[in-house]
Amino acid sequence: MSIYTGPVFEMARTQFGIIADHLDIPQNERARLLYPKRAITVSIPVNMDDGRTEVFQGYRVQHHLTLGPTKGGTRFSAGLDVGEVAALAIWMSWKCALAGLPYGGAKGGVACDPPALSRRELEAVSRRYMQEMIPFVGPQIDVMAPDMGTNEQVMAWFMDTYSMHEGHAVSEIVTGKPVALGGTLGRREATGRGVAYLVGRACETIGLPAVGARAIVQGFGNVGSVSAYTLARCHGMVITGVSDHTAAYHDPAGLPLDAIERHVAEHGVLAGFSNQATIDPGDMLEQPCDVLVPAAMERVVTAANAPRLRCRILAEGANGPTTPDADEALDQRRGEVFVIPDILCNSGGVIVSYFEWVQDLQRLFWTEAEVNERLERVLGGAFVQIHTRATARNVSHRTAAMAIGVEKIRAGKRLRGLFP
Ligand code: NAD
Repeated sequence: MSIYTGPVFEMARTQFGIIADHLDIPQNERARLLYPKRAITVSIPVNMDDGRTEVFQGYRVQHHLTLGPTKGGTRFSAGLDVGEVAALAIWMSWKCALAGLPYGGAKGGVACDPPALSRRELEAVSRRYMQEMIPFVGPQIDVMAPDMGTNEQVMAWFMDTYSMHEGHAVSEIVTGKPVALGGTLGRREATGRGVAYLVGRACETIGLPAVGARAIVQGFGNVGSVSAYTLARCHGMVITGVSDHTAAYHDPAGLPLDAIERHVAEHGVLAGFSNQATIDPGDMLEQPCDVLVPAAMERVVTAANAPRLRCRILAEGANGPTTPDADEALDQRRGEVFVIPDILCNSGGVIVSYFEWVQDLQRLFWTEAEVNERLERVLGGAFVQIHTRATARNVSHRTAAMAIGVEKIRAGKRLRGLFP
């Protein structure tokens, strides 16, 4: 199993070990539950604009196919490796099971730096990646979606490449597509909208008035920006901090979100928005606030900063933002910090991706109001399950959430048995 290495995979493995101990899962069953069914590595040669031929590494990891096809995002990022992809696939499995979706988890991506690619180069990377993956994916096998560094356009190229191979339009091969190609209304906003909905539920649970509550959001891409807008516009919160990989701004009196939105729409990044209210990105997470939303990357809440977080609600928009050591520290502060664990908090994305796949298969499309209403129903159900179980068993929300996910997959594997 040594191909799965690196800090992100170690984190997923450690978390699983904690849950397996908590559920008393026999050692004999653990490797079968943890290790991915398949890991595919491909070389992606691309003719670059300057005449060179560059070969990128691409990956797809399918964790388990016990309950249905695998489902998961596609990440384009410079340092991507198979260990990180495998960890993200494993988290997707727990997440899908927790939400009751008929999927196993998958994840994939290409080690590349999207901002450094021209549009033509990005299209070539996207199309060749999907071309190499065609033998291993399909609407009933593995369905891709966007993640960090990819977007609706990349999904459109994936869908077109697969469809050209099949000879007809196969919209159900990817989710997170443009609506014009069979995407669903509400998918682009789904993850951030889900984050904001769950923050609202957490506020109700701890008796924190949402209107006027202060929120800090790390990451201003799809998840971070929609979380910030929705917290501000639908819940009346004041956004006091935002950051991306280029800049971080913090103002205890509140940041001008509309002006920030216009700046990012024009320039793509936060850098250059203002010379005022800048803050060291490392310090931003530790600023006093009611709601803290890490929505960028893994392992940003660590044993070092967890004891110093000054938020009431930690809403994990990103995948894997909190290390297991930090979890221990947060566990000591359970009454002070209400954690909405990633596999619940950002599950709005895969839930609405599931709705998109269902609509594509049926060729029957729903209104945005229907999508949002169903999304809230699924998220609300999972929120209640987790909070009830955590309270009854005196465990953290993460332990409760992961335990529910792992138990469902374990039950499926036991019922199906071990072939042959
Ligand atoms: P994105 O590419 O749209 O945005 C990522 C953002 O993070 C960008 O603003 C980038 O500048 C910022 N960022 C990168 N490094 C940073 C740093 N060091 N400090 C501060 N900001 C930094 O990606 P996304 O789709 O918004 O995904 C963000 C996270 O949410 C990832 O962990 C992803 O796996 C997770 N997620 C995404 C979805 C989805 O539907 N897009 C669903 C579930 C989970």
